[in-house]
Amino acid sequence: MVNYMLYISGELENLTNFQPRGSVDDPDFTYYFKFKCENCGEVTEKETCVSLNGTLPLPKKGTTNLIQKCKFCKREGTVTMIPGRGSPLTNDSSELGKYALLMVFDCRGFEPLDFVPLMVFYGRNKI
Ligand SMILES: [Zn+2]
Repeated sequence: MVNYMLYISGELENLTNFQPRGSVDDPDFTYYFKFKCENCGEVTEKETCVSLNGTLPLPKKGTTNLIQKCKFCKREGTVTMIPGRGSPLTNDSSELGKYALLMVFDCRGFEPLDFVPLMVFYGRNKI
């Protein structure tokens, strides 16, 4: 079990609290990643989407947010999102060149490679 943490950074001009529309734990916010199979090293051709809203039951117990099968070696892996750990990117952090933790992903069998920010981020005006 490996937890991958997704951090964001950026230059915010007169803007603060940069994050997904609802919050960092917006259930509808969809993350798009390419995944690499930990068994054979095959990388998925297309990005796979994962969101807190999309839950799937696990064979034994609990739920996960993505179950994916490697096209090459057929091994199955899961990606479970862990909410409650992220925070918006503030103007102060941005000026200091700091990163903000957005979301934690518990990946089993797959390693996330490219994060593709296809969804819109929002911020509010700095006062
Ligand atoms: Zn594989």
